[in-house]
Amino acid sequence: MFSKILIANRGEIAVRIIKTARRMGIATVVVYSEADADSLAAEMADETVFIGPAPAAQSYLVADKIIAACRETGAQAVHPGFGFLSEKAEFAQRCADEGIVFIGPNPHAIEAMGDKIESKKFAAAAGVSCVPGHIGEIQDVAHAVRISEEIGYPVMLKASAGGGGKGIRVAWGRKDVEEGFPAVRAEAKGAFGDDRIFIEKFIESPRHIEIQVLGDKHGHVVHLFERECSIQRRNQKVIEEAPSPLLDEATRAAMGAQAVALAQAVGYDSAGTVEFVAGQDKSFYFLEMNTRLQVEHPVTELITGLDLVEQMIRVAAGEPLGFEQKDLKINGWSIESRIYAEDPYRKFLPSIGRLVRYDPPVEGAADGYVVRNDAGVREGDEISMFYDPMISKLATWAPTRGAAIAGMGRALEDFHIEGLNHNVPFLAAVMDQERFKSGQLATSYIADEFPDGFAGLEPTPFQADVMTAAATYMHRTLAARARRVGNGLSGPLSRTEWVVAVGKAKRPVKLSDLEDGLTVELPGEERTLRLSTIDWRPGLPLFRGELDGAAFTVAVEPAGEGFVIRHRAAKARVLVLTPLSAELHDRLPEKKKADTSRLVISPMPGLVVSMDAAAGQTMREGEVVCVIEAMKMQNIIRAEREGVVKAVNAKAGDSVAADEVLVEFA
Ligand code: ADP
Ligand code: ADP
Ligand code: MG
Repeated sequence: MFSKILIANRGEIAVRIIKTARRMGIATVVVYSEADADSLAAEMADETVFIGPAPAAQSYLVADKIIAACRETGAQAVHPGFGFLSEKAEFAQRCADEGIVFIGPNPHAIEAMGDKIESKKFAAAAGVSCVPGHIGEIQDVAHAVRISEEIGYPVMLKASAGGGGKGIRVAWGRKDVEEGFPAVRAEAKGAFGDDRIFIEKFIESPRHIEIQVLGDKHGHVVHLFERECSIQRRNQKVIEEAPSPLLDEATRAAMGAQAVALAQAVGYDSAGTVEFVAGQDKSFYFLEMNTRLQVEHPVTELITGLDLVEQMIRVAAGEPLGFEQKDLKINGWSIESRIYAEDPYRKFLPSIGRLVRYDPPVEGAADGYVVRNDAGVREGDEISMFYDPMISKLATWAPTRGAAIAGMGRALEDFHIEGLNHNVPFLAAVMDQERFKSGQLATSYIADEFPDGFAGLEPTPFQADVMTAAATYMHRTLAARARRVGNGLSGPLSRTEWVVAVGKAKRPVKLSDLEDGLTVELPGEERTLRLSTIDWRPGLPLFRGELDGAAFTVAVEPAGEGFVIRHRAAKARVLVLTPLSAELHDRLPEKKKADTSRLVISPMPGLVVSMDAAAGQTMREGEVVCVIEAMKMQNIIRAEREGVVKAVNAKAGDSVAADEVLVEFA
């Protein structure tokens, strides 16, 4: 076994690898860029080596620097994590030439499988069923249009070197190909340093199901069952689970056998993933093989009890697999949510910044479920524009799918982040959807269920009760305190009759104190709520309690005379009013929102790649106004309505801030 390994990665995956190495008694070296000098991974590692500026092309992607760091520290092996150098055959070969063990598959397997065009050729030859398309490189826009028309729309333009949902565009017609081809090519060049593009048929509304395989250097290959990753946005996985609610034993065995056969055919000797798109009828087609550890590997670990990083290290060191296929079993169910720094309320645009507060749910066994949170950040850290905008991966395990989903809902309630926008409310919305709970998944799920984007949800009756109870308790506590410290608020504490406004809905309530909480009588509804087991004091951003015995956590922010309370996807302004002020409140005029429909506003901080609008020009609805690059993604900003351009305030090459006015219409 190795005594020291180097981790050629950053963030949560570097932390994840350190944890396993440490458990195995292996010392770790972490390389870091300027942006990561103070990172958690660098802090946890036994040794660190600085490898240059923040852009990955000048640090994490420079093989020479990684090799030099191994030499300098005497690391015997390199774990590449995912992304960066993990799927570069040249790098794996280079390690072998230098006498350093690459903790991943052999270079031949990466070469054959790591590239989408090559792997399709290989899989087709090995008899694996593939998505129909043009297995070859596309030269230019004209070529792209010709091939797309041969295949028949809709088609998918894909970067051969792509990964993580980047470098992919669906085209429904010629215009999409003409526009998308240059964009996808630029994105591929920027993100992967390789601009080869191919085209395949776009399968509408499929499911994404992938098989985890594991091989050793002695010719053994097993599969560790499937993961379903159908909940995606822009072809990027958002929620994953294992096993898949679609598969039956026979389909699972058939997919597993194909994946193992493919892995065996390339002499696969590490952890890898064979991805398929599957029809609702359980037909399946090979998509690609990822010759590395996958972001969503925790769900497989949670249902198999195996540590995939440990297995990768063991097989890299030459150990044979310690088990056979028949020894492996699925135990329970696991769900993973990717917590991203993005604003779900504003088209999921990246939201970089500092984690002013970062308080994830406690890991380990909770009430009927288990929580695991893989993160590479701490409170105070920055999510920068240089790398993936993922904050953490939150996973739950339980004996059944229903309990794992319920656990995820609760774990998301307990996740507190301030300083940047995040997708926790959106993830919670999905956990609460009947369609998700029933397992009717498809890669179009988010587009189907949120066709107009995400605007949060109205409180359900239970949520309105939770907000009412929490607000009355907080109001009472704050009033009692104000009275004690003698600043203002002299109203009678003994008042028991109030009106609680949750958003626009008002309800009279009658309060009485309990030893461990409060009862809230709802005279209009002839019901009484019982709030107990309260964990909150003034200043805390999370309020935990039980309502009629059901545990909940809400996020609270003071807002004027009241609070803004969020429970999962529902957020409302909540006021606790006296009956008289409630009446006055009804007569206050509503504030009007400013009209911003004539403005094109930068939805995120980024770089203007092109400005396609000019003053005086008439633009049609949907016409491209400009292209902004942020987080390595090219975002096309389109005119929301027809109009004449009055002013253009940015040009190509400019850096723009979020909310900056780019273009004004007359
Ligand atoms: P898939 O590629 O099938 O979507 P994943 O969801 O596991 O599989 O995505 C992993 C991909 O995402 C990597 O290949 C890489 O392109 C990108 N990626 C994810 N995390 C990182 C990271 N920390 N650093 C660099 N790239 C990353
Ligand atoms: P990446 O390397 O970025 O993961 P993939 O080829 O795995 O690229 O595709 C990412 C996602 O895009 C898949 O999970 C699937 O949802 C969708 N997808 C890819 N190819 C197709 C296709 N031909 N038809 C329909 N959806 C597809
Ligand atoms: Mg993929």
